[in-house]
Amino acid sequence: MAARLRTLTDLNFSDYTRPVVFLRLDLNVPLKNGTVTDETRITAALPTVRWLLEKGCRVVMCSHLGRPKGEGYEKEFSLAPVGEKIAAHLGKEVLLCGDYLMDGFSRIVQQLDNNQLVLLENLRFHKQEQKGDKEFAKVLAKNMDFYVNDAFGTCHRADASMVAVAEEFPLERRAAGFLVQKEIQFLEGAFRNPQAPVTAIFGGAKVSDKIAILQKFTSIANNMIIGGAMAYTFLRYMGHKVGKSRVEEDKMSLVADIIKAAEARRVKILLPVDHVCASEFVEGTPAIACMSADIPDNLMGLDIGPKTAALYAETIKASKVVVWNGPMGVFEWEAFAQGSRSVAEALTQCAGSTIVGGGDSAAAITEFGLAEKVSHVSTGGGASMELLEGKELPGIKVLRASL
Ligand code: AMP
Repeated sequence: MAARLRTLTDLNFSDYTRPVVFLRLDLNVPLKNGTVTDETRITAALPTVRWLLEKGCRVVMCSHLGRPKGEGYEKEFSLAPVGEKIAAHLGKEVLLCGDYLMDGFSRIVQQLDNNQLVLLENLRFHKQEQKGDKEFAKVLAKNMDFYVNDAFGTCHRADASMVAVAEEFPLERRAAGFLVQKEIQFLEGAFRNPQAPVTAIFGGAKVSDKIAILQKFTSIANNMIIGGAMAYTFLRYMGHKVGKSRVEEDKMSLVADIIKAAEARRVKILLPVDHVCASEFVEGTPAIACMSADIPDNLMGLDIGPKTAALYAETIKASKVVVWNGPMGVFEWEAFAQGSRSVAEALTQCAGSTIVGGGDSAAAITEFGLAEKVSHVSTGGGASMELLEGKELPGIKVLRASL
């Protein structure tokens, strides 16, 4: 079993007056014409920032934003609009520093007053960040007392600020922030000796993207619910007609392996028994009901049907732990969103622990206005997927109590 995660309350500030904290956040928010269009990641970071400020820390925040070239400043990827939002939320001054690799930077940090924080400009303006460069990390960690990582969405990447900077600090001066702590509690802790029944819901575009997670859950779940385009590869394998639905012909042997593993452990696999179809894959295409598991040759399945949604909801509501990863249909188009909406609603009616993996299922439940009614919606796409697959994330490994 993985060692315990070190958290904020493990940090001992008693030997320091106004300790300097290097705080890695995930402030990679969407921007349109220089304006933040979704503040979720900013508000998710605030509890840790506030806690550190309350403890009298001088806080140096940093993050990446988008995909700059790594050859210096690019205005469109500047964290300036993010700094303004944080300042407004906290009612404090946020000093955006672009020249944090220069000697003069430490003076700025030394002179910080209680009403000021520092935000380092986009770490990815330096190509050393994504290379995990140790020399770059040494400069970043210089004159800092503690390392805190609350950037869950980046924990699957061994970037300099995620791993090499942490390693510049002794273990007792490293910790995970509140967001990382919560993500680990739900995405890892919920499946350690869970109460049965455990139900895992998988959907989305491809079986091939989810093989590792499907295989992992054959040894954790009691029920595996399959929807989205991947259901058609399963149905085809079972001998059903799937019409023009998206099928990965070359993945049949993987489907066979998953079904075999599930049978061996008596895991129930639930597949669609009816569908919402269309004759072509274009926005605005009319929805055509298909009342049986078989789909006519001229149609493609774009959502689970109402009978399937009711069966899935029954299983979900009776579960003690539920995890949902991937939409049941093309939820971006209203005519094919009902299957995903029904699953989301069933999650809100389940008395057990209900967890939504990041990415498209998180986007779907948020769009349906139900995100507040489940136990946890992950903020990380790739990171939540890798954690559910049972992988140790590099950004988490350096925060474990014993390495
Ligand atoms: P993923 O990123 O693998 O979770 O896939 C999410 C994408 O799968 C969404 O953009 C959905 O529109 C798409 N999707 C879900 N169901 C289907 C389907 N039956 N046919 C085609 N695309 C689908």
